[in-house]
Order: sequence, then C-alpha cells, then structure tokens
Amino acid sequence: MQCDRCDSAAVEWIRYSGEHLCRGHFVEFVERRAKRELHAQVDLQGGERIAVGMSGGKDSSATASLLADFLGRRRDIELIGITIDEGIASYRPAGIQRAKALCGRLGIEHRILAYEDTAGHTMDEVVARDPEAIPCSYCGPFRRQALNRAAREVEADYVATGLNLDDTAQSILMNVARGDVEKLARLGPHESRQPGLVPRIQPLRMIPEKEVYLYALLQGIEFHDATCPYADRAQRGRFREMLNRLEEDSPGTRHAIVRGYDQMRPLLQEAYPPATLNACARCGEPTVHAVCKACELRDRIEKFAPDAPEPA
Ligand code: SF4
Ligand SMILES: [Zn+2]
Ligand SMILES: [Zn+2]
Repeated sequence: MQCDRCDSAAVEWIRYSGEHLCRGHFVEFVERRAKRELHAQVDLQGGERIAVGMSGGKDSSATASLLADFLGRRRDIELIGITIDEGIASYRPAGIQRAKALCGRLGIEHRILAYEDTAGHTMDEVVARDPEAIPCSYCGPFRRQALNRAAREVEADYVATGLNLDDTAQSILMNVARGDVEKLARLGPHESRQPGLVPRIQPLRMIPEKEVYLYALLQGIEFHDATCPYADRAQRGRFREMLNRLEEDSPGTRHAIVRGYDQMRPLLQEAYPPATLNACARCGEPTVHAVCKACELRDRIEKFAPDAPEPA
C-alpha cells in the first residue's frame, strides 16, 4: 500500500481518517498534533521548568522525547524526568532503567521518588496486606500525590504526563458512568494554578495509544513494553474494552468523546469552579478535605498490618 501523501510505502492505516501514511508522514502526523496540543495547553514564555512523569512506558517516553525535540532549541526551558517507583518488583525496575537511559540520551536530569518514601509502603506490600482491594485504587492517589510532590520539589512550573487519547476517553466515560460530574470537571489539562498543585499538561491527549506505540517504535525511543501485573484488576479495563469495541464499530468515537467533553468543559467548570485547597492535617499536601486521600489510604493499610486487629 502506498502513502496517500507521497510515493513511499505506507506503514500505517489511520482508520478514523481513512489515510495511509508512510513512516515520514506518520511521524509528522503525530508530532504536529502533539505540538498543537502543547501550544493549546500552555503558553511557554521562557524560564519555565517542566517535569515529565516517566514510567519508562511508551506514552511517557514518547512524551519526554517529543518535548525534548520541541523544546530542544529553547535553552530557556528546562526538562526534568521524574519516575515514581511504586514498588512492584516484577515490573517497575525495568521501567526505571528505561526512563533513566532515555533521560541520559536526551541529556535531561532524572529523579526517582519511591512510594516507600511517600506512602510508606511498596505496592507489593499494599497488595499483600489488602488482597481484596483493587490495587489501582491505592496506587492512583499515591502516584498523583508523589508526582505532584516530586514536581514541586524540583520547582517545576508544569508536570507533563503521557496520557493518550484512549486514556482520556476512558477517564471521561468512567466519570460519566459513576455520575461523578465534579471529577469530570477537574480532569486535566489544568488551566489554573492552585497553591501546592503543579498543573498537569498532556501533549498526547489527542493521539491514540496505538499511534503512540508505533511512533515510539519508529523513532527508536527506548521504552518498557510490559503491563503492570495488577492492571487486570482495574476497573479501567472494562472501559478500555468497551471503548475499543465502539471504536471498532465507529472509527473516530474516541475523538468524538474527547471533543464533546471539551465543549462541555467550560460549563462543567462553571458549575464546579476549582475548589479551595487546604494543607492536609497529616502530611501537608494539598487537599479539598481535612485529610488527603493518600493519608486515608495509609490508615487503611495500617489496619491490615500483620499484627493489627482484624479490620471492621
Ligand atoms: S496498573 Fe494500577 S497498580 Fe499497576 S501501576 Fe498502574 S495504577 Fe498502579
Ligand atoms: Zn508519505
Ligand atoms: Zn495527607
């Protein structure tokens, strides 16, 4: 099959647009959208420091590589890679190694912050203590807090994540299905700056997961190609399957969900303006409650301590 834009052989068929693209035009197609998204989300004036949350997986590795490429000529903007080590022995070490290697190649600083030093426990310990719980229900809040803390500690103005189009559409659907309109209003990217919270930017937000994967492969970006051993217990998996089926039947569904959401977003944000944040009474991290979700979860794990009485 030939590329629809030149005479070279096509490497990918973009189902939702009907286009066949060669390697060069595919790479350009991905980069143009990521750049457009970055500029739509943030107005970089110079002097900023951007932390990139790097798991070592394809999405965050592609994000770091794209940002380094886009901003490489701007010596007035600094990138820092941050890896959160959840403490999953069979999975995370290889990701950390890839993230470190990529940062080395891109010439950016790399830092690691472990759950052991924030939540006080590795995810492997959490799962061993509370085997009935969905691991991601602990891991999500722990990671959000750890990444925010690490980004704040390096005085980052923004924290970029590798969230892709599939992730974004799944998050929208999950919050709709739960009727959690407030959370829906607060999904990133963040336009406003709140004390203690580093705003998140998501350059891959409109790029499908499969395209990110192919982009990383074609560009020779090193990444850890594996799935977390606890992922199959996540609720998100059901929404992923559902969305894949919808996309299969009607190509373009993921884009339509996110574009539709973006049109509703100003109305949602009017109904739910950014909440006033307090410092958590226990750890000092920003929260809308008196005690943050991560501290609440830490308490829960303590109830499952090997020598603790049976939880009620
Ligand atoms: S899949 Fe769940 S447990 Fe595994 S790293 Fe992601 S959030 Fe954590
Ligand atoms: Zn071409
Ligand atoms: Zn707290």
